[in-house]
Amino acid sequence: MMPRKKLGGALGEMFKTALEPPVTEQYPFGRKVVAERFRGRLDVDPVKCTGCSVCEVVCPAGVITMVPVGKKTIGSREVEVKRPSFDLYTCISCGQCVDDCRFGALTLTHDFELAVFDKKSLIMKKALQVGK
Ligand code: SF4
Ligand code: SF4
Repeated sequence: MMPRKKLGGALGEMFKTALEPPVTEQYPFGRKVVAERFRGRLDVDPVKCTGCSVCEVVCPAGVITMVPVGKKTIGSREVEVKRPSFDLYTCISCGQCVDDCRFGALTLTHDFELAVFDKKSLIMKKALQVGK
């Protein structure tokens, strides 16, 4: 059983805090404002992406796969055109691909709501459409 002195202190604290507003944020109605340099969901600008494959090479988590989307002719050669597909469920938001994409096609957004029922819904293929 709790000693009488401690019980009195606990009751005093309880009555004091009962009159104060809640300290928890009412998520999702009250959204947390993240820091300016917060690293959230990765995004790609399909128009800026040239398909250079650098992001695939530097990603330490194997998030990025270059997918063939067509062919183009350069001089007398026919070369395969590729664009990145991103399995964002394994992305650790390290920012390496963003730093190394010299075309500025990648950004880490402030979106932190990545919980899904089906992880396949976190596969981002938007760059594939523009590359065709
Ligand atoms: S996102 Fe950037 S680094 Fe990745 S393939 Fe496109 S241009 Fe290259
Ligand atoms: S942020 Fe890091 S883990 Fe995520 S895709 Fe880019 S390099 Fe890979």
